[in-house]
Amino acid sequence: MQSTIESLQVADHKEGFFHLLGIEEGIDRIPHSSVVDDALSKMEYAKVNDILFQLFDRIINRKILYHHQNVLLPNNTFQIGTDGYWTHNYTHPHSVDNQGNNNCPYCLPRVHNKGKANEFTSWVHVIVTFVLICGSGLTIPLYAYPLKANQITNIENHEKFKEECELAAAHVVLPVFRARYPRQSFTFLGDALYANKPFIRLCNRLKFDYIIVLKNTVQKKLNKHCDGLGKTEIYQKHYTHQATTTITKGTIIKKAAWFNVVEMGGEIFTNVLRFEENIIRSDGSSKTLYKGAWLCSRKIFHNNCFKMAERGRSRWGHEDLHNTCKRRGFDIKHDMARSNPNLLMIWKIMIFIAFFITELFFCTIIAQNLQKTRSRMKFSRDILQQFVEISWKVISMTPIMIKPRVQFRFHFGGP
Ligand SMILES: [Zn+2]
Repeated sequence: MQSTIESLQVADHKEGFFHLLGIEEGIDRIPHSSVVDDALSKMEYAKVNDILFQLFDRIINRKILYHHQNVLLPNNTFQIGTDGYWTHNYTHPHSVDNQGNNNCPYCLPRVHNKGKANEFTSWVHVIVTFVLICGSGLTIPLYAYPLKANQITNIENHEKFKEECELAAAHVVLPVFRARYPRQSFTFLGDALYANKPFIRLCNRLKFDYIIVLKNTVQKKLNKHCDGLGKTEIYQKHYTHQATTTITKGTIIKKAAWFNVVEMGGEIFTNVLRFEENIIRSDGSSKTLYKGAWLCSRKIFHNNCFKMAERGRSRWGHEDLHNTCKRRGFDIKHDMARSNPNLLMIWKIMIFIAFFITELFFCTIIAQNLQKTRSRMKFSRDILQQFVEISWKVISMTPIMIKPRVQFRFHFGGP
């Protein structure tokens, strides 16, 4: 912001920009970045995180989700997904106490080459984000949870490390969702690491629906039980469904098989859905396009099996969130404020807040009509540029500024 203002040569442009930022007349500069950092670092992380929930409350209360159900709220339930990701990797502590010990609460130690001469420790920050998975790949961040060092024990097995981070976060954050929204319908869409008894127990306790990827390498007893049932005539006849569609390239065959009320062990029951999609091409060759299985909280029937499989697959779209935050101008990996861990988290959340608003803005018809072929980043830059270049006199005379009361309405076109 500071460099943008400094680059403004024309006094009128500067004046207009200051008006837009709400800076009073006679003040010719915005606070120095160290002053901004200082102020932000005094904010409570949890309160800033809550702004995401407050935005969520507003889109619920203004019925934005409800009025655009096909785009924003498919299946009439809030589909929640999660992903852990690492923002920084330090080989030396970035924040130390008087004795030189790492005192950043969010630094998770990882031991490399354990027991060998070249053993060393590095630290990572892992933030697990909880996102609302809307239709058509649109995702909105709702909660960011930074893990703390004492929550993770698996610091040497790097394979298990990420899993443990995500599970630990889910066990803390999903109860927060339920406490804040006691009556809303939630469905957790999770990948294979969530297919375990403690997590299913958590979902049952919180009354969260779930669709969780089931691999055949985990829950072996459950998978074997389903294999056995699948061989019986009654299951093959009554608990399977098949559909074929003809496309130009050939015929697509979708097959589903399901097993309702099967035990995972420890008196925890669930429903298992198996699904595959094959294509038989015009030349007679065939290929498996997709094969997967899920644990589902809801019972599966002929009329919902394909829909359920589709929802299970839709969760992949949200991984785009992190790529967007990294690459498309949000610059989430930027190592702002190394020395102050709290400030670092505040900056991260502010990026998620910006992402939340931008994502909704890009769904509006006005944005879609104006964006044309520009990338989102280019479009955003062009908007800022217009604010800078149009003189304040022109802006202040626009009908929207003259009106005593302005009411905004959203018109959504969908992603
Ligand atoms: Zn740290």
